[in-house]
Amino acid sequence: MKHLAILVLLYLPVCLAYTLKRAAKEEDTSMDLVRKYLENYYNLEKDVTQFVRRKDSGSVVKKIQEMQKFLGLEVTGKLDSDTLEVVRKPRCGVPDVRNFQTFPGTPKWRKTHLTYRIVNYTTDLPRDAVDSAIKKALKVWEEVTPLTFSRMHEGEADIMISFAVGEHGDFFSFDGPGEILAHAYPPGPGFYGDVHFDDDEKWTEDASGTNLFLVAAHELGHSLGVFHSANKEALMYPLYNSITDLARFCLSQDDVNGIQSLYGPPPASSDDTLVPTESVPPGPETPAMCNPALSFDAVSTLRGEVLFFKDRYFWRRTHWNLEPEFHLISTFWPSLPSSLDAAYEINSKDTVLIFKGTQFWAVRGSEVQAGYPRSIHTLGFPPTIRKIDAAVSDKEKKKTYFFVEDKYWRFDENSQSMDQGFPRLIADDFPGVEPKVDAALQAFGFFYFFSGSSQFEFDPNARMVTHILKSNSWLRC
Ligand SMILES: [Zn+2]
Ligand SMILES: [Zn+2]
Repeated sequence: MKHLAILVLLYLPVCLAYTLKRAAKEEDTSMDLVRKYLENYYNLEKDVTQFVRRKDSGSVVKKIQEMQKFLGLEVTGKLDSDTLEVVRKPRCGVPDVRNFQTFPGTPKWRKTHLTYRIVNYTTDLPRDAVDSAIKKALKVWEEVTPLTFSRMHEGEADIMISFAVGEHGDFFSFDGPGEILAHAYPPGPGFYGDVHFDDDEKWTEDASGTNLFLVAAHELGHSLGVFHSANKEALMYPLYNSITDLARFCLSQDDVNGIQSLYGPPPASSDDTLVPTESVPPGPETPAMCNPALSFDAVSTLRGEVLFFKDRYFWRRTHWNLEPEFHLISTFWPSLPSSLDAAYEINSKDTVLIFKGTQFWAVRGSEVQAGYPRSIHTLGFPPTIRKIDAAVSDKEKKKTYFFVEDKYWRFDENSQSMDQGFPRLIADDFPGVEPKVDAALQAFGFFYFFSGSSQFEFDPNARMVTHILKSNSWLRC
């Protein structure tokens, strides 16, 4: 066969022969690339690789299939164009298939308080940008586990974070710009738990280069003991997914399940109120938008959108998108707690006030304003009030209604003081609305009161309930 092929080639025009030769060379390069990829990430043994040139080699085809399956490609067992495209994509340097030589057992930290240290910096970004990307990345995991982190400036921390190029003193050298972006070691002593970033990448705060926060969040997952996921939506998917709208970043349920299988969910949030609350502490479950039993912690408008808060999440209903967006509260406002009590917007100030326990925060867009949290007692509540259930502001009248159990207070936004004669009974002034109110919203001239899975549409002029709806009716369920 080989002789025949050469004979045929001899009769071909020169330019075509050249093209064929180049194609053959490209195929060789592609094979080298794939062979390296399989060795690095799919535990392809080096002595098997001599057979890679024979495409019928069972073990290589099997490895290619394994990789295609893991990365969500069509399982052909062949080096098709999709597969070749994927092997050229930037990714994490940690293998997709566990190699027992490097990662024995299921390593996890035996303590919940961990230390980290940023050993050196990239010159691509200001130091505080690196600090904040790392902090934000740790927070991603802190939110869903009992783990806490504190920073060390010298000495040996559990997680040592550094930037390096090429050969940098461990088993895996970096490869210049592209492909491998970073790698990290699973929990353990010494270099275990450490994160290395390839400083030949262009690290950025946004999506113009390689986003440091996204890669750090992924690598820190490894530092905590989470391996790669085959779920494309997961943070722990091995290929780098550039997200242009970083505010949309959200851990997938797959990531949450992964980390919680090691450490469990976060402890029930400790409220500063002495009164036990009925609210369910945030658990491992992601709330389902169309669950008929769904209730909300708080609802507020924000610049023409409506936000529905639940546990550590919120849905965001915008006018230009039929499908509500789903986010972690912490990705928009890292310093806010989860399981909020109430929220309302003061349009004239472009501010949303967020309440939990005896504290409240002011946010403008995605920024929590300086000087917060403040005590709800500065608004004029008596010391006996330890939390409020719901709040809504009447945009025209500039009056805000605060609901606490079966009573409500009225606050004047112009004079910034509580109106005289309050609290009053909800039943007296909002007949038909069930106390207690979980959340409230003003829209289209109505008030919408959320109580458990029910929602009361209240006409303030007629002083009556005009409709009873499901709480999640706003989410197009
Ligand atoms: Zn990884
Ligand atoms: Zn390294």
